[in-house]
Formats: sequence, structure tokens, C-alpha cells
Amino acid sequence: MTADEPTWMTDVADRQEHGIDERRWAVGHALGVYIALCGKLVLPRSLTAPCGRRCPRCAYLAAPPLAPTRVARLLRLMVS
Ligand SMILES: [Zn+2]
Repeated sequence: MTADEPTWMTDVADRQEHGIDERRWAVGHALGVYIALCGKLVLPRSLTAPCGRRCPRCAYLAAPPLAPTRVARLLRLMVS
């Protein structure tokens, strides 16, 4: 896990695994509920329960940005 990588937590209601960034983790830890990257309020499921399917919006928001050279390569592939 890197400093920018969120902590993944499964919500008791939708059973999806949501990403929680470090800043929101500290606030949520005091309250027992967490605000996910996607904006959902997450009430954590038991840590002994299996992880849920990863929330696609959190996964998208947590993905590292593409390097400019990779973007250029992808654009070349799309036009060729
Ligand atoms: Zn989410």
C-alpha cells in the first residue's frame, strides 16, 4: 500500500468494497462511519466477512493517472 492508495472497506448495506482515503479514514475512524471516494457513507462490514465486489466508481477514482507518454501511445493506437 502506498501513501496515496486508499484503504478498501466493504459496506454493510451494499456489500461493495469502497475506497477510503487517508484523510477521511482518520475522521471516519472516530465516528465509525466513513465517506468513500465515491461519496457513499460506508458502515463497515465485519472484518471477518469476505470482501465485496469493488465499487467501480471508487476504483476509477483511486486509479493512478496515466503518464503522458502512455496517453500518447494509446491515442496513436486509437487512430491507427
Ligand atoms: Zn465507492
